[in-house]
Amino acid sequence: MAGHCVAMAAGLRARLGMGCPSCCLWDWHLSPGLLGARLAHAGAAGQLQREYDAVVIGAGHNGLVAAAYLQRAGVRTAVLEKRHVLGGAAVTEEIVPGFKFSRASYLLSLLRPQIYAELELQRHGLRVLPRDPYSFTPVLESRRPPRSLLLGHDMAQTQRQIAQFSEKDAQAYPEYEAFMGGLVSALDPLLDAPPVDTAALGQGSLFQRLRALRALQPLLRSGTSGMPGDPKQPCRSHTTSPSPGLALVRQLPRYYEVLTAPISKILDQWFESEPLKATLATDAVIGAMASPHTPGSGYVLLHHVMGELEGRRGAWGYVAGGMGALSQAIACAAAARGAHIFAEKMVCHVVLGKDGQAQGVLLQDGTEVRSKVVLSNASPQITFLELVPQEQLPKDFVQRIRQTDTRSPVTKINVAVDRLPSFLAVPNARDGRPLPHHQCSIHLNCEGTHLLHQAFTEATHGRPSSRPMIELCIPSALDPGLAPQGCHVVSLFTQYTPSVLAGGQPWDEQAKNAYADTVFDCIEAYAPGFKASVIGRDILTPPDLERIFGLPGGNIFHGGMSLDQLYFARPAPSYSGYRSPVPGLYLCGSGAHPGGGVMGAAGRNAAQVALEDFRRLRWQ
Ligand SMILES: Cc1cc2nc3c(=O)[nH]c(=O)nc-3n(C[C@H](O)[C@H](O)[C@H](O)COP(=O)(O)OP(=O)(O)OC[C@H]3O[C@@H](n4cnc5c(N)ncnc54)[C@H](O)[C@@H]3O)c2cc1C
Repeated sequence: MAGHCVAMAAGLRARLGMGCPSCCLWDWHLSPGLLGARLAHAGAAGQLQREYDAVVIGAGHNGLVAAAYLQRAGVRTAVLEKRHVLGGAAVTEEIVPGFKFSRASYLLSLLRPQIYAELELQRHGLRVLPRDPYSFTPVLESRRPPRSLLLGHDMAQTQRQIAQFSEKDAQAYPEYEAFMGGLVSALDPLLDAPPVDTAALGQGSLFQRLRALRALQPLLRSGTSGMPGDPKQPCRSHTTSPSPGLALVRQLPRYYEVLTAPISKILDQWFESEPLKATLATDAVIGAMASPHTPGSGYVLLHHVMGELEGRRGAWGYVAGGMGALSQAIACAAAARGAHIFAEKMVCHVVLGKDGQAQGVLLQDGTEVRSKVVLSNASPQITFLELVPQEQLPKDFVQRIRQTDTRSPVTKINVAVDRLPSFLAVPNARDGRPLPHHQCSIHLNCEGTHLLHQAFTEATHGRPSSRPMIELCIPSALDPGLAPQGCHVVSLFTQYTPSVLAGGQPWDEQAKNAYADTVFDCIEAYAPGFKASVIGRDILTPPDLERIFGLPGGNIFHGGMSLDQLYFARPAPSYSGYRSPVPGLYLCGSGAHPGGGVMGAAGRNAAQVALEDFRRLRWQ
């Protein structure tokens, strides 16, 4: 793959007459020396010390968030990342010279609002680019000219767009938004605290019981925050009902249904237009080896609308400079307080004392770094099946971690193009400048939910979809600095591709290129000329996502977001509170509550739990 990109890149330089841009100018793509220097500038010393109060394994955004909170509380913290670049799945990488890609995650919404403020991310360089409109679905129909559906924050305009397909749906849409917004607000308080420790409630010491009781607060608060009063109010802004608790109780049966049902059932209750239902259903299956007909897909949809951007609930936007710029801002916030952050430091063991307590880590280069607490941002599978001796863990715990469903349908393709795609439904202007729909999530093969189901079914037989679900984004439409002038970066989030192909065939270059060609053929049908505009491509199948980013099975969330793997059960029942069976070892990444996405919640919550224990240890 790398060879492929380099060859393409040489072609690009010839076509554009460019010199080789120096990718190491990008903060998030620094050599370890430069990284040390840059962070030293921000207040951290560059030398790895032999002892810290806390060590964080992995500099994904959650690990960095955890480090920033620990250091802020006066806990001397080091972060050790195995890759050459910080951010885990929230990185910017220059795969094709001159083109900066958000190589894995590409859109921001879920990051908890407290984190922006508490870590002063704006001061540390974070700039977000909200999108309005935000969703564009071009529709190919055999007997009529191409149409499209554009959704944005202007409700009247959005209703006019929906009315092209169904007047009835246009009328229902504001109420649907308010309904979903109410449920999201009800769940909101659960995200910022550990799940209730039921084991401690039942049989813990007095101290543990009191602590567990305190954790009940968010559960009781859930549902009493921000319920919609007036269904005509768009739910994407904050609305508060005069009696939110009662509103929740009234809606409880319907909310229960959304959490547990297939999203197709819920959407059929609200709407009749297939392009609208398919567009909304994409959020319910994104990252999940699930069809819109799979029970529980409703929760996945909620997970994708529970964020906010600049105070607007459910809004998604780009990060200026790509997702790596967010990780860089968090790293700067941690370093400015004195945290030490290192790239190219692979942890190969958690060091345990005679009493079984975590006492630090051993690096691949043989260096031992001691600490009082260890937080792991790596997946539960890496943390507990690779970094800790199995005999130190309860058998049933190991079994639960092994059993976690990590199947992933996602292949991400990052594409460098020399012009903007021109869609049949809304052709480009003569000057070739971005039009409003170019900033959107562009949904292809979304003419109906049956297409998403068909694409899923093929993958269950070990075949990549022949007509995949495609979310196409062009961040350079809002952030031109990501690509050379006139050129663009295109992000293709596609599914369904099984991790293991039928007959045990490998995901070799031939299989990867064949799938990417299928995706490109689909795009060509909506936007003729796309294939000719391609300069370079970076194809990341589930095995690639596992190899490069350490995502188990390529799962973008460190483990499926199915109901049996959430809240009390994430990563395993009785271990959902960030503590692990190894005293002093905590999980602080997406494999812990509340799960995947660029949320920072797991990092923030885990830091608070570790901090509590650290303070107790100090007084003992
Ligand atoms: C293709 C793709 C698209 C996505 N799109 C979006 C999106 O648009 N918006 C969104 O909100 N979410 C998106 N996600 C999900 C989101 O990116 C992840 O859930 C989130 O970034 C995970 O963050 P994390 O910090 O928990 O873990 P990670 O980002 O996985 O970080 C873990 C870190 O630990 C390091 N590590 C592992 N083992 C070791 C070791 N032994 N020693 C040292 N370091 C180690 C890894 O290298 C990595 O840097 C996407 C994910 C993918 C893969």
